[in-house]
Amino acid sequence: MEGGFDGAGAAEVVAELRESFESGRTRSFEWRVAQLKGIARLIVEKEAEITAALDDDLAKPQIESFISEEHKQEPHCFFTLALTNIYLISMVRESCRFALKELKRWMKPEKVATSVTTFPSSAKVVSEPLGVVLIISAWNYPFLLSIDPVIGAIAAGNAVVLKPSEVAPATSSFLARILPDYVDNSCIRVVEGSIPETTALLDQKFDKILYTGNARVGRIVMTAAAKHLTPVVLELGGKCPVLVDSNVDIKVATRRIVAGKWGCNSGQACIAPDYIITTKSFAPKLVDALKITLEKFYGKDPLESADLSRIVNSNHFKRLMNLLDDEKVSGTIVHGGQRNEKRLRIAPTILLDVPSDSLIMKEEVFGPLLPIVTVDELREGFGLINSKGKPLAAYLFTKDRKLEEKFVKTVSTGGMVINDTILQVTNPRLPFGGVGESGMGSYHGKFSFDAFSHKKAVLSRGFGGDVPMRYPPYTAHKQKILRGLITGNIIAVFLALIGWTRH
Ligand code: NAD
Repeated sequence: MEGGFDGAGAAEVVAELRESFESGRTRSFEWRVAQLKGIARLIVEKEAEITAALDDDLAKPQIESFISEEHKQEPHCFFTLALTNIYLISMVRESCRFALKELKRWMKPEKVATSVTTFPSSAKVVSEPLGVVLIISAWNYPFLLSIDPVIGAIAAGNAVVLKPSEVAPATSSFLARILPDYVDNSCIRVVEGSIPETTALLDQKFDKILYTGNARVGRIVMTAAAKHLTPVVLELGGKCPVLVDSNVDIKVATRRIVAGKWGCNSGQACIAPDYIITTKSFAPKLVDALKITLEKFYGKDPLESADLSRIVNSNHFKRLMNLLDDEKVSGTIVHGGQRNEKRLRIAPTILLDVPSDSLIMKEEVFGPLLPIVTVDELREGFGLINSKGKPLAAYLFTKDRKLEEKFVKTVSTGGMVINDTILQVTNPRLPFGGVGESGMGSYHGKFSFDAFSHKKAVLSRGFGGDVPMRYPPYTAHKQKILRGLITGNIIAVFLALIGWTRH
């Protein structure tokens, strides 16, 4: 942590970074590559420390940390992925590798066509860095959610302040301690802290803010940004639904649902399935299959399973217990429900036929509880999803192509996957971000580079071919020709030109 960080400390950090940015250092291709390589090296050299920090913060199964936060692009890893059904591979090392591979192309000005009104000319879109950017990250994937946006900000040539989450203190202090050894500290800074430190930072003028976390704080961030007209990317959450048709391969479907829900931080993931919608007739079969899969994955006593993360802290544990102890859902638990408050562990829990006005159906679950809502016809589920705030992700399991098409067309969500969960995050060619209540803007891959760049329009002309008719006085002849040119009416232009030369 920067010693005694307050308003003055925040102003000082931002001023130093601004000076570095204005020196032009961050703009070169070489600087960007050196920083990205530094991060790639950090991941290799400090893998054990990263894993230990994540274990401290969340008791993450080691393989889950490795895959979802530090993933290395090696063939054996894909094998492991298949074995563990944990598919979050759009991860830090891969992000770095991808940015290093693509950076030259991303930085290249993009030539675009010109129009008759500017003839002769050339036109291009130039990506330029925004300046000093702020990244505020969340606790649930504390390494990934901190470093992944930093990669985009660096690739785009910005100076960066990173504020990791205080709710994952081991990862936060690891980043503050270690990152300066691997990147240019005059342009990239980690500031640790909670609300006071973040508030002090938010008082400063940044050129972009990327915030990951809940929508209540998202509103605070956006309000603070508005004072400086600072654009924001808000990576928020929401209730991610899973629609399950009765025609699915139930074994595969339940494996993928369980892996997406409990295999991701015990459900403490923004794109983890939040609730299931299925038909009344299919629900009992689905519940049975989920129970079998859960027992296969986590054994008869899941509270003792080393393959399940714990709940991050006692506040979140109490919040989850509150959802479970709501009298509106009493009698709906069909599986699990066991808890160990001292060890912050909750067994995978399924609730069937929860009422729509229960707390668990009103709030984002963000934990190992999975409510199931039943409907007569699966299509009713579309209306149910659209009646809530737009989710960050929505999933559909079906063999019905028409239903799939309708789902894609009808349901508004940050992203979606058909017949799997969470895999959208693994493809760096897909944007990752929300819509409506689940956020604004997106990142990952080129989208990260674009999120932290200004797209500057550059039109370039020589001195030849200057057409006098665009200048006043606007005679009737000039107007005819101009109108013809603008509307593309070549005959009118031709006739006007003939008339004009006759004069
Ligand atoms: P959190 O408690 O770690 O808070 C996020 C950040 O906000 C932290 O850095 C924290 O210091 C800061 N913060 C908290 N209160 C603040 C305040 N009053 N003023 C200024 N800053 C403040 O994380 P969280 O909010 O519990 O995260 C969980 C939420 O984040 C869930 O809704 C989840 O869906 C969402 N999430 C979204 C994504 C995504 O990529 N879209 C990823 C992870 C989590």
